[in-house]
Amino acid sequence: MNDPKILVVEDDPTVRNLITTTLKANHYDHESTSNGETALLVATTGKTDIVLLDLGLPDMDGVEVIKRIRSWSQMPIIVISARSEDADKIAALDAGADDYLTKPFSVAELLARLRVTQRRLAALCSATAEPVFRNGKLTIDYGAGCAYMEDTALKLTPTEYKLLCLLAKDVGKVLTHTYLTDKIWGSSWENDMASLRVHMATLRKKVEKDPDTQYIQTHIGIGYRMLKND
Ligand code: CA
Repeated sequence: MNDPKILVVEDDPTVRNLITTTLKANHYDHESTSNGETALLVATTGKTDIVLLDLGLPDMDGVEVIKRIRSWSQMPIIVISARSEDADKIAALDAGADDYLTKPFSVAELLARLRVTQRRLAALCSATAEPVFRNGKLTIDYGAGCAYMEDTALKLTPTEYKLLCLLAKDVGKVLTHTYLTDKIWGSSWENDMASLRVHMATLRKKVEKDPDTQYIQTHIGIGYRMLKND
């Protein structure tokens, strides 16, 4: 991994500028955003390799951003936060953050953490033997973040894509409603259950256009599973 793309999520323009200037000076490819929703969109649809994440964002808590990214990706996430309490660090690390840098931080420290993370990322990439998932006519290209039926790209929403990835990861196994909503939204309220049904229905319409081939099986009252196809 020579040229990781770094996503900077920080709403304080001074800190954001400091980080992006540092990245630029050290020839890192990067983009930045000031809120969680855009960060999730960029991470889902773009080519992000590493996320530098502030926890206090205007639209959602950074921990929520970590949870949502972790529902479908192992991309390294380094938290950069003014919150120095142990409880905040533990919450971020438990949600799946790889590292935690407390503000104010030195540029040298940021760069050192990035180098460590790059080494970890290189190890992660070489350990992930299967960048592409295949099941019958269905293909998921994890690198590109795209799914295909035969040669046609499926136009999936980020949530549908995440659901498909979750089902593919455990093909053949039934994944419970609670497991899926927790992976996607970090919670399993009644609202999430209703949303899950809707997203799963739209996903199935796109994946199962050919009525002879079933990819997703509903287990009423339990959850869903992906069936293996030849
Ligand atoms: Ca902030």
